[in-house]
Amino acid sequence: MPSYKNIVCEWCKHSVKRQVRGTKDAGRFCSRDCSYASSSRMKAEREALRRIVTKQYKRAMRALRESRRVKRERERLQYIDDALKCVCKSCNEPFKQITHLGSKAAYCKSCAEQLEAESNRKSRRVAKSRRRARIRNTKSDPIDPFDVFETADWACYLCGVNTPKSLRGTYDSRAPELDHIIPLSKGGTHTMDNVACACRKCNNIKGDILPNTPRRGNSSAGGP
Ligand SMILES: [Zn+2]
Ligand SMILES: [Zn+2]
Ligand SMILES: [Zn+2]
Repeated sequence: MPSYKNIVCEWCKHSVKRQVRGTKDAGRFCSRDCSYASSSRMKAEREALRRIVTKQYKRAMRALRESRRVKRERERLQYIDDALKCVCKSCNEPFKQITHLGSKAAYCKSCAEQLEAESNRKSRRVAKSRRRARIRNTKSDPIDPFDVFETADWACYLCGVNTPKSLRGTYDSRAPELDHIIPLSKGGTHTMDNVACACRKCNNIKGDILPNTPRRGNSSAGGP
């Protein structure tokens, strides 16, 4: 004997008399249409909810990734900043410079340029002072006259007068000049043991008293 009961359809709200069976939804809807309508509505709501949750989850994940990315970027910039911090070995001033990783620049830009220029001047001095010895094909060392003058405390080895750096290259009688103790013309060599700092006056006198040493404005007239 089938049993019946009055139910109110959950979808259309109509009251109907339904035979109670073991089937799904039997007691909730008046018809299959209402059952489908209800379940598709529920499905749509679940979908909408899922979309909202997914959206929020994605947004949260994006924010997390972004904050991690920002942190990594900040750390990276800090690392680069630290790697670029150099202290000049010459002027002791801190400076920043792009260098190969792990090897820091030793000198700041202006000191590096000065050192470079000084190094160039030095090699020019060395080459110039060596030239006459090279022409004579005698033994020659790479000698920077300034090193010789420095060692001599900028004083003439013959008369002891001060030969200040500022007079180098001038026609002043106290201008420092590189003297070959045994002149190149007498077989002297352009080596450290044969060079000395002389004042221009002594250098000229020496040139005068030693024959066969041609000097500027000094003719061969009156030789012995
Ligand atoms: Zn219904
Ligand atoms: Zn510097
Ligand atoms: Zn002198």
